[in-house]
Amino acid sequence: MSGSLPTEDPLIRMYRELKRALAKDQSQVKWAMVIDQAKCIGCHACAVACASENRLGPGVIYRPVIEQETGTYPNVGRRFLPRPCMQCENPPCVSVCPVTATWKNAQGVTVIDYNRCIGCRYCLAACPYGARCSDFGGFYTTRTAEEPGLVQGRYAARAYEKQNAPEYGQPWGERGKGSPVGNARKCHFCLHRLEVGQLPSCVTSCVGRATYFGDRTDPAALVSGLIGSARAYTLKPELGTRPAVFYLG
Ligand code: SF4
Ligand code: SF4
Repeated sequence: MSGSLPTEDPLIRMYRELKRALAKDQSQVKWAMVIDQAKCIGCHACAVACASENRLGPGVIYRPVIEQETGTYPNVGRRFLPRPCMQCENPPCVSVCPVTATWKNAQGVTVIDYNRCIGCRYCLAACPYGARCSDFGGFYTTRTAEEPGLVQGRYAARAYEKQNAPEYGQPWGERGKGSPVGNARKCHFCLHRLEVGQLPSCVTSCVGRATYFGDRTDPAALVSGLIGSARAYTLKPELGTRPAVFYLG
């Protein structure tokens, strides 16, 4: 048998690198994500973990997993493209906001101030990746209570859905009453987790270990090596948005 098994789970390495990055001057850190399409098995675990982490309601998704067909019949295949916000270095979504409710933070993450956002959706139209969505305040449990036979557990389910979203380290009002309902929403690399030394939810839940995360200014970081590989590419490079999310094709 050729080759050897990896001696360390990449999550352990990324946690070590995260600790190193958090010890730095934070203005010197630039977060980046790398997604290996050869390892993604299309299980959607990352999408579900993200929705659970951020208490996303119906119609709000930060990280869909898009299925792609490749090749020409009969030599066809299927691959998967998890698509979070690209955290563009040059984000078209920012300049269109009429109330400066969205901007890039020091670590390169495009954030939204829900208190300022008026829900005009200009940014949704401006994003070339479809990475933003509107939160209309729906609940997955809507109408469950009226269905005979589906009554059991409805209170627990609705209580879960009404929990505060932990985003941006602030307790938002009970879901359904004010922000972030009515606002634009998007992936933010789980900033609230990074601030307490945890990797983004999609990274830790990835069954195929296909998602990597770290500080791209650290030359020894796993992501830095992967970004420099010949397999690395970004989506729609011709637009000049300069994503901080890279794919390995
Ligand atoms: S939806 Fe909110 S963040 Fe987007 S452009 Fe309008 S005010 Fe700005
Ligand atoms: S992917 Fe879209 S929402 Fe994210 S920073 Fe780029 S333009 Fe903005």
